[in-house]
Amino acid sequence: MLNRSNELAAWDRDHFFHPSTHMGMHARGEAPNRVIAGGEGVYITDANGKTSLDAFAGLYCVNVGYGRQKIADAIAEQAKELAYYHAYVGHGTEASIRLAKMIIDRAPEGMSRVYFGLSGSDANETNIKLIWYYNNVLGRPEKKKIISRWRGYHGSGVMTGSLTGLELFHNAFDLPRAPILHTEAPYYFRREDRSMSEEQFSQHCADKLEEMILAEGPDTVAAFIGEPILGTGGIVPPPAGYWEKIQAVLKKYDVLLVADEVVTGFGRLGTTFGSDHYGMKPDLITIAKGLTSAYAPLSGVIVGDRVWKVLVDGSDKLGSLGHGWTYSAHPICAAAGVANLELIDELDLVTNAGETGAYFRAALADAVGGHANVGEVRGDGLMAAIEFVEDRDDRKFFDASRKIGPQVAAALLDRGVIGRAMPQGDILGFAPPLCLTREEADIVVAKTAEAVKSVF
Ligand code: PLP
Repeated sequence: MLNRSNELAAWDRDHFFHPSTHMGMHARGEAPNRVIAGGEGVYITDANGKTSLDAFAGLYCVNVGYGRQKIADAIAEQAKELAYYHAYVGHGTEASIRLAKMIIDRAPEGMSRVYFGLSGSDANETNIKLIWYYNNVLGRPEKKKIISRWRGYHGSGVMTGSLTGLELFHNAFDLPRAPILHTEAPYYFRREDRSMSEEQFSQHCADKLEEMILAEGPDTVAAFIGEPILGTGGIVPPPAGYWEKIQAVLKKYDVLLVADEVVTGFGRLGTTFGSDHYGMKPDLITIAKGLTSAYAPLSGVIVGDRVWKVLVDGSDKLGSLGHGWTYSAHPICAAAGVANLELIDELDLVTNAGETGAYFRAALADAVGGHANVGEVRGDGLMAAIEFVEDRDDRKFFDASRKIGPQVAAALLDRGVIGRAMPQGDILGFAPPLCLTREEADIVVAKTAEAVKSVF
């Protein structure tokens, strides 16, 4: 196994162009490369036989945990019966049709149809096109701008990379800035005016949004996109009253709301959708990761009634929608989705995410919250983050070159637990599989406390 692992690692360095990786360091062997060979429950095993508790569920996606026979069987059966047929011009398969119905049955009120894609990025590209199409059908060709937030993450495509409010994802790509705008992140911990209460800070964010809409001209602003809880931007729950105040502004200026639920969809916050959790009433919802628990790639846009009606009018005027992917509603991925959603129900994983999530976050805060270099322990459901600071009282942040987040993540991995150094800021993130038990949560907490102590 060891020889095979070394050989694979060498081929990897020489041939594999990895996403989100420092290519120079990887190719020169200066950064670790790890060959992952298997997974069971919340654990993965690498090709050297080392096992780690994956407290980030891959990339917050393996929600039912690894090694689920039911999903593997559903994929195999579908591959034998019908590996592929397209979904163009009204074609479907039993799996894709059943899955569409299961999604709408579970979706927040007022949702009408599901448009399938393969990744969160392509689903958000679909959102952008549908928003533009919608306003063209309504005879409002100027109403096209989309407002996102700094620290929001919405993908890495040409337009979706631009929607993403993280500089790293814009860096040297010349992505189109117009017609994408970014407004203030709902990041209470990093607010400038420390005298503000959460409610006041939420009002401040809503005021900033309104200022932007007025400065641009309400007739030019089509939509606002946000994750119910910021994910890749630092795992930051919205401050009290945030979504209520933001939605009041959107309503006033007839701006659509897109809830990007790629991370939160199908249970992560202890409700099936994050929109339900925070009282959001979106017009469009992006789904991906938890839809199949990443057993096969699948994403979707859930289209609300208000948009759907206009789209139907549009095709009556303009003909067929000129937007499609070869693999939209791929039967094998859809079969994985059906089995995955059934499993989530059978194991009551949404309830577990809420209950074990609360237990996990409280234990984490207990274990490390008092440390001199921990500025905040935060989260919701089964999402949690520790933000490290140089000085807790002054809220002084570390110089980025210190790479505190990666150091703690590495110390944690040495102790057999995977957390994620979030890409911006000194933040260690957790988003374990929704099947996490209290005993497993205890292991994550104990090892994290050790790792934090070892770094500072
Ligand atoms: N939206 C959110 C909220 C995400 O977290 C992600 C990925 O992490 C995406 C969109 C993009 O999804 P994908 O990587 O499948 O394109």
